[in-house]
Amino acid sequence: MDWLLTPGPVRLHPKALQALARPQLHHRTEPARELFLKARTLLQEAFRTQGEVLILTGSGTLAMEALVLNLFAPGERVLVPVYGKFSERFAEIAESAGLEVDRLELPYGKVPTPERVARPGYAGLLLVHSETSTGALADLPALAQAFREANPEGLVGADMVTSLLVREVALEAWGVDAAASGSQKGLMCPPGLGFVALSPRALERLRPRGYYLDLTRELKAQREGESAWTPAINLVGAVAAVLEEVLPRLEAHLALKAWQNDLLYQVGEELGLLAVPEARSPAVAAFHLPEGVPYRAVKEAFARRHAVIAGGQGPLKGKIFRLSLMGHYDRYEALGVAALFKEAFADILPPS
Ligand SMILES: *Cc1c(COP(=O)(O)O)cnc(C)c1O
Repeated sequence: MDWLLTPGPVRLHPKALQALARPQLHHRTEPARELFLKARTLLQEAFRTQGEVLILTGSGTLAMEALVLNLFAPGERVLVPVYGKFSERFAEIAESAGLEVDRLELPYGKVPTPERVARPGYAGLLLVHSETSTGALADLPALAQAFREANPEGLVGADMVTSLLVREVALEAWGVDAAASGSQKGLMCPPGLGFVALSPRALERLRPRGYYLDLTRELKAQREGESAWTPAINLVGAVAAVLEEVLPRLEAHLALKAWQNDLLYQVGEELGLLAVPEARSPAVAAFHLPEGVPYRAVKEAFARRHAVIAGGQGPLKGKIFRLSLMGHYDRYEALGVAALFKEAFADILPPS
């Protein structure tokens, strides 16, 4: 079995594996409804919202699109800071939904400051909390607050795909109205589910849009423990099982994730590698490739040790590499990965 050191999909949680071994449930039966409602309640707790969470069949990008489509009307102006591949994607989704998009372009690796988003005249702000493509973490509460002071009626939509269960998140307490996430990152489940969390304020602003992506229709069905269309109920079971295990000890889990990612950066520093982001997300460690070393050499050095890593995306393609312990790794497995990282680099950079 390979060590998945990629920032999604990730090494599965044993509770997810157990849940996936159960016989198929039919989604229009009482046990399935109970499971669906349990997963929704646990997700609501994970997102820290008094609102509701919708479970969609698809990946994180689908959740981002559902959020944008159902909360904003064509022609409305939204502000989208772009500082990586996923914030770029948020801007593209908003454009494809017919919104007027003002992009706030920043170099990849940076994050916006609150002053930059304190601009009036917007129906919404779309932000990525943990920019997985660069390893940067945006100060979501400060940004949401600055935007809402300038736009009291505006809605803040956040991508929490690699912060949910990796770092502290909150909706209302942070001034965030809606958030998107997925099953194959911090939740340590297989890919296949997207989540849209909606605060009470966002729930009031929901408008029926699209067909499969119509969250108004979904809300009606999901309040009864069903979904409008056949759900990936097996994955819903995996998500519920993982959340049930992790949420009661969330603080310790987040501390472990932070420690593990710091460990990767510590090893990188010992090896003389330059970190990509200034403000670091605990979801992934991103490093510039050493001078003259192609990405392929790094990838192969890890592959020889049965480890799968990630390269750069967009303008960072061929310039950086990324390692993640977002999946299910305990403290000692993380120390093993740190040793593997050093060994792999001993192949690449012979001792001087
Ligand atoms: C993985 C990821 C997504 C969603 O990607 P999918 O491949 O659609 O699941 C969105 N945003 C961020 C920050 C991500 O890391």
